Amino acid sequence: MKEKRRKLGVPKAHVSATYRKVQVTVPDAPVDVNIPARMTFYVDTRFTAAQVSRIQVLAGLVLLNWDTHFTELNDGAARSRYQQCVNKYAKFNLAPVWFEGKLTNGAAAAAVQMDGFTTQIAANGFGQAAKAYIMYQKSGSSTIKGVNASNPETNSLTVTINATDISKTSVTNQFLAGSLQHAWLHREGYRHPAGKYTNYFAGECSMCLMRNNKDKTSTPASTYTQWLD
Ligand SMILES: [Zn+2]
Repeated sequence: MKEKRRKLGVPKAHVSATYRKVQVTVPDAPVDVNIPARMTFYVDTRFTAAQVSRIQVLAGLVLLNWDTHFTELNDGAARSRYQQCVNKYAKFNLAPVWFEGKLTNGAAAAAVQMDGFTTQIAANGFGQAAKAYIMYQKSGSSTIKGVNASNPETNSLTVTINATDISKTSVTNQFLAGSLQHAWLHREGYRHPAGKYTNYFAGECSMCLMRNNKDKTSTPASTYTQWLD
């Protein structure tokens, strides 16, 4: 009886969680550092095959936005479409916690963020960072959550995904990709006041991704921010 009581206190979900290795192809972006062919994630086995496949699609969309940014610059653009979008809307918390210089506009901030993401991709793919787990949450108030981290060279891209939200057909992959990118921004060293996204770098760049870097319309911010944590 005593033994049984002790076991009841153990957080069952955590103890029983098992993970399987899932990989995502990294596009051959024109960056000036060596990048891996694939990223590796350890996905909780409670996610269904369809959910895992959608998670891979979302990671692919975040990587596509990254590839497009560098391709546009490589093709001669002074600023990528991502930079132009972020520059219009991001005003506060432009720099990640590790950045020592001063960033005066959103375009410069977006360039720093994309370089930091390149570092995260390489650290993940070459096994230099901690393993990236895709942790399971059956339901809850956040869609995809990334706990704050501070070192893109060694910290993982671990996030927790709400399985109910990831199965919704009422939300597009592009919106959920913005949610994943936002969680990864927290892992990259970006911060914003809880629940505040408008004008904050980490909120606006995820909303830019959700809009395919197009200008804002009359659509209320909550349409986008409801997917951010
Ligand atoms: Zn956030």
